[in-house]
Amino acid sequence: MKPVRFSHVSVDTIEEAVMILADPQRDARVIAGGQSLMPMLNFRLASPSLLVDLNGIGDLAGISRQETGLRIGAMTRTRDIELSPVVAEHQPLLAAAVPYIAHVPIRNRGTIGGSLSHADPAAEFPALALALDATLTLHGPRAVRQVPAAAFFQGVFETALQPGEILTRIDFPLWPADRRFAFQEYSRRRGDFAIVGVAFWADVRDGLCEACRVVAFGVSDRPVRLSQVEDVLIGRVPGDPEALASAADVMRGSLEPDNDLQASADYRCMLAGELLQRAVRSATEAA
Ligand code: FAD
Repeated sequence: MKPVRFSHVSVDTIEEAVMILADPQRDARVIAGGQSLMPMLNFRLASPSLLVDLNGIGDLAGISRQETGLRIGAMTRTRDIELSPVVAEHQPLLAAAVPYIAHVPIRNRGTIGGSLSHADPAAEFPALALALDATLTLHGPRAVRQVPAAAFFQGVFETALQPGEILTRIDFPLWPADRRFAFQEYSRRRGDFAIVGVAFWADVRDGLCEACRVVAFGVSDRPVRLSQVEDVLIGRVPGDPEALASAADVMRGSLEPDNDLQASADYRCMLAGELLQRAVRSATEAA
């Protein structure tokens, strides 16, 4: 199908973008890499009158090490994150997961900000932002505000972004050097959206899990942190088969996915439990 007719404006500054977006008369929408938005326009799932193109705002792209962690501009391409030695060193879980996103041509255009703003419940970046305690900076017509990833995702394609706001950067806190991690997902073909995925990290002291994070995606209307599963693993030897079996049981019991054309709810729960066990084992073995 073809999209409804629309106009396009390329902007050079965040302020210009925000000013246009905040004007309700203009019915404007941001375009970043276009990898999700263009299909939506073509299927007429969205029909804005004006696209505000962020690709000319140089300040919005880039990866930098800060004192407080890692900063990634919203317009940074997925492929640049995948290939960045700075990301590999300072956010290795992010680096491990990015190759699962779509295919190289899509990663060449798609941006981290576009993926987070789009908030597909089966997408990797939202789950990683939650697993890594990222903070998202939103620029609006009147204020700039910081929103933790845990409060940003509010449903299928629903976020905390208010009309007129754009996501400008994502900050990830410092990553401890000896943190263990793994990322697991299952999709029908490599590059497809995940049916279910799990991001996991653990801090281990004297052989016991001191702190950990379990986030699953593809199992709800947004990525979900599973604190009950984390509680089972904390204080135990992470790869211990009994601890793992209990954690997987709790995982299966905590999720309430819907049945859909891709998979039944039971199948998603079963997959989530299996992927959790694989992730914990893989993190433990890698260490
Ligand atoms: P766009 O398509 O330009 O925008 C997406 C939405 O976000 C729009 O509503 C837009 O208005 C809004 N937006 C964009 N940037 C901002 C911003 N800075 N502030 C506020 N709003 C903004 N993704 C995955 O995660 N996993 C996959 O396996 C996967 N497979 C794919 C397979 C195919 C065939 C295709 C076409 C896409 C796939 N994607 C997948 C999606 C891809 O990763 C997209 O690039 C990404 O979701 C959107 O990024 P974008 O920069 O292209 O955003």
